[in-house]
Amino acid sequence: MINLESMESKVFKPVNTKLYKTGQTRGADDDVIYQNRVKRNSTVLIPYSEYEQCKNAPTQKGKYENGFIVLIKPEDYFKEGIESEIKKKGLKLGKNLLVFYETREQYTKYPIKPSWKPAKSRTSPLGGQYVARIPATTEKGKDKIIEGFNSSKLKGAGIRVYEYADDATISACRLQLEFLFWSCYDIDEFLKACSEEEATKLRSHMLEVKTDAVKKGLADMKKLKEQRIVNENGNTICPLCLKPISALEFASKMEQIKGREIPDLTVTNISLFHIHELRSGEFNHRTYNLGWGHHHCNVTVADMGVQGTLEWMKEVLEANEWI
Ligand SMILES: [Zn+2]
Repeated sequence: MINLESMESKVFKPVNTKLYKTGQTRGADDDVIYQNRVKRNSTVLIPYSEYEQCKNAPTQKGKYENGFIVLIKPEDYFKEGIESEIKKKGLKLGKNLLVFYETREQYTKYPIKPSWKPAKSRTSPLGGQYVARIPATTEKGKDKIIEGFNSSKLKGAGIRVYEYADDATISACRLQLEFLFWSCYDIDEFLKACSEEEATKLRSHMLEVKTDAVKKGLADMKKLKEQRIVNENGNTICPLCLKPISALEFASKMEQIKGREIPDLTVTNISLFHIHELRSGEFNHRTYNLGWGHHHCNVTVADMGVQGTLEWMKEVLEANEWI
């Protein structure tokens, strides 16, 4: 097992942090149903309408490592014949199913039953039957309504189902991503930024990572090239613009527009990049689907995916008669 804790290399630290974060979900706002930056194998939240599509986890014989909670809209829950429908699916209110209120209209039109309690546990029994996240309006007396999973320790009920990956997948992805870091074209430059002692340790660590990645089948160059993750030379590239990624950029703060600098900006130039984007009904946090790309390229791709983005860019250039 690769162990870097004892090294505490200053130069490698930002890279290590970045690698660690790849195992976590993206940040969530304060008043949403999702947990903020937690491990990708946490309890998943499945919308009732997507239950059939998402009920089986991608690994572990379809089992989610920390279970799942299905969220049903009040208008669906209060319709005729729902009881037998949910029973047939193996769902039970308060056990693995919660009514989820998101709008004021739902809250008034489908009142919460007097016997119901707001849920507070991520494992069965959930300690309640419903959860509410309703934003405030400008109207007087219409404050936000936040019920269930709202204590500071238990903020958020779970993670978006498509961000899920099991523990073994998280580790494999992390190893492949570190392998890709050490595959940057200017890795020698990076090592030059370290003290001699540090550089020696990091060099042997790099070898360990590369050997381990090969042994675990995570260094298939042909596959990585096909996925736009490395180039002909086996160097890591940005999956959108295909420019080689610099190891030094992993630690450098993003260049900011003059006059609009934000102190303590934590966004760096290089971001984790999903080749096939994370989307409902798919589990795309997996090996050979992750690479390192420029922050701006990643933001541009957003939910469109690399292919969709290139097609859109082509249309834009054609419209401008550049091509
Ligand atoms: Zn790029």
